[in-house]
Amino acid sequence: MTEVILALNAGSSSIKIQVLPVARDAPPLMTCTVERIGSENARVLARVPDGAKSDRELSLPDHAAALQACAQELEQTLGAARVVAVAHRLVHGGKEFAAPVKIGPAEEQALTDLIPLAPLHLPGGLAGIRAARDLFPEALQVGCFDTGFHAAKPRLHDRFALPARLYEAGLRRYGFHGLSCQSILRKLQEVDGTLPGTLIIAHLGNGCSVTAVNDGRSFGSSMGFSTLDGMAMGTRCGRIDPGALLYLLREGMSVDDLEDLLYRESGLLGLSGLSNDMRDLQASDSPAAKEAIDYFTSSCAQEISRAAAVLGGVETVVFCGGIGENAAPIRDRIIGALGFLRSPEGGRPQFRVVPTDEERELAIAAREVLAEALAG
Ligand code: ADP
Repeated sequence: MTEVILALNAGSSSIKIQVLPVARDAPPLMTCTVERIGSENARVLARVPDGAKSDRELSLPDHAAALQACAQELEQTLGAARVVAVAHRLVHGGKEFAAPVKIGPAEEQALTDLIPLAPLHLPGGLAGIRAARDLFPEALQVGCFDTGFHAAKPRLHDRFALPARLYEAGLRRYGFHGLSCQSILRKLQEVDGTLPGTLIIAHLGNGCSVTAVNDGRSFGSSMGFSTLDGMAMGTRCGRIDPGALLYLLREGMSVDDLEDLLYRESGLLGLSGLSNDMRDLQASDSPAAKEAIDYFTSSCAQEISRAAAVLGGVETVVFCGGIGENAAPIRDRIIGALGFLRSPEGGRPQFRVVPTDEERELAIAAREVLAEALAG
């Protein structure tokens, strides 16, 4: 019987799954995504490498139902495959978790306690864990943390200019998109046989971040305590003066409304008034769409410059994520704004596109935790 790993990326209303072999680091056997969980017309899209796909709409009230629908697709496609591990992408590991861990009741409770740190992301991840545990009770549940890659960064780039007691209480620049960063490092190592000493990774998707990497280790991310900081994103504001937030609160805006504003109504969507999707903005001739693209490219160039300042120059800048990998005109504008950038030796940095593969990182982590579990 084929033994497989499920790499599970659960959002608040969507899940993305890749089914990967346990035996070796190899491409997925199939992928399945579910969108609009919690609605009457959730969409389940399953694909296999030869291109065959199934695309259905059905009522899926929650993550458990969504995962069940994926399990049916898996059974139809791969027959009696046995799921031996489910690797969960978890946005936040707080101070507690950095390396991938086996998730049992204690870890689940610890993650539940972390929800205030990532109120929009962790509940989906936890729902994925509960659903996977119920559906695959024999499988090892493995948590992989987007903050993990950044956990060992220098303290200087981990702090805010706030009193130390707040740092101890967990107010830190955690940094995110760590699985994506690990994927980029792995691919550079595979292709080049080596890593640049100074590297900047610009992950430009719906969420966007810029990470400074020194000798393969994180030196800090443009995303900080939350996934709001740094670059302007699809619907998130990016860098903003905290005084503006105090003003809005004093003017009577509720905390919930402020959260909606900053996470869901800002960024490309807020600037353009049209869409959070870069393709829509590129296709539009409205001045507001143009302004949104101008702001986005400028904010990316600014964050890359900040990262270069942290590193003392940069040899290689990598673009990844939906925009970073596909939108050449956006990349060209960002690169155009960075003509002054230099490597530590004084030469021009190299700009590259490397497709990120977070699910492969999940599967690799799951194999390691499986091996540890078997050894222990
Ligand atoms: P997520 O962060 O949800 O995984 P993605 O990495 O898929 O998102 O990135 C989504 C973004 O990538 C959207 O803004 C989308 O418009 C953009 N994108 C995808 N393909 C292209 C393309 N060919 N040209 C421009 N933008 C693109």
